[in-house]
Amino acid sequence: MSVRGRFAPSPSGRLHIGNMLSSLLAWLDVRSLGGEMLFRLEDLDPERSYEDSARLMAEDLRWLGLDWDLGWPMEPDCRQGRRTREYEEAFGRLGEKGLLYRCWCSRAERLAASAPHPGEENPGSCRCRTLSGAEIAALERRGRRAAYKVIAPDETVTVEDGHYGTYVENPAREGGDFIVRRSDGVFAYQLAVSVDDAAMGVTRVVRARDLLPSAPRQKWLIETLGGTAPEYCHAPLIVSPSGRKLSKREGDLNMEPLRERYTPEKLTGVLAYLCGLIDRPESVRPRELVEHFDWNKVAREDVILPDWV
Ligand code: GLU
Repeated sequence: MSVRGRFAPSPSGRLHIGNMLSSLLAWLDVRSLGGEMLFRLEDLDPERSYEDSARLMAEDLRWLGLDWDLGWPMEPDCRQGRRTREYEEAFGRLGEKGLLYRCWCSRAERLAASAPHPGEENPGSCRCRTLSGAEIAALERRGRRAAYKVIAPDETVTVEDGHYGTYVENPAREGGDFIVRRSDGVFAYQLAVSVDDAAMGVTRVVRARDLLPSAPRQKWLIETLGGTAPEYCHAPLIVSPSGRKLSKREGDLNMEPLRERYTPEKLTGVLAYLCGLIDRPESVRPRELVEHFDWNKVAREDVILPDWV
């Protein structure tokens, strides 16, 4: 099977230095394996406007020297906002397998339900799973719209992460049933990303470490839908000196000021140095890093942002 990686940004703001590190590693990973890169826009929420962020994100990746062979914008439909039919189809198949139920919990309740409660048999399973027909009818009469949850498997799912090693989870016990479709009808990230990675022939998923806990659920969903899960390889996060994850809101570390302060080669050098690929933050082009790219050189612990960046 040919190697295919992907950039899958949610166009909700400008890319920041942490996104650039995972993008650089995703690109190096696939290029060092002689594979193709795909760009998919993860614009699931129809309430938001994406055009400007999407264009700027693509421009920022190209500016650094990260290119792709397939996907958006060459293929305008390679965006989640245009793939509802594919998600409907997968959703239908989960329903046929008896794996879905309607959930009327409020958003806050759902978030609480997904927090781990050690010792509880099935922390993420809400009461909606066992409502009686009469209770459901009463909720329907009140006009409340329901989200849909998938019944998480009560089994061990093992992901061999290419960077962090074996990652084991029992989705039912550790995360519980999870939402695949919101009450407004919008499909949820876990379903969309799983459907897309399988349908688009993605074989290497490289992304930031904060999504590692999602990998078992995605692998299970893909396999349940009859697909082949990609290999997952998570990248370290860049964190502030206090250990906080950077967010797109951290304006001074997004690509707008970074592009004013650095040349593409200088910024690539800083990223490569911060994660351990090179010994000094010297100017380098991404393609010059391909030949000697090795995940063993990449830090596993989070990278603390030094004050000189
Ligand atoms: N769209 C997600 C984000 O920008 C990433 C999804 C993924 O890599 O699985 O956070």
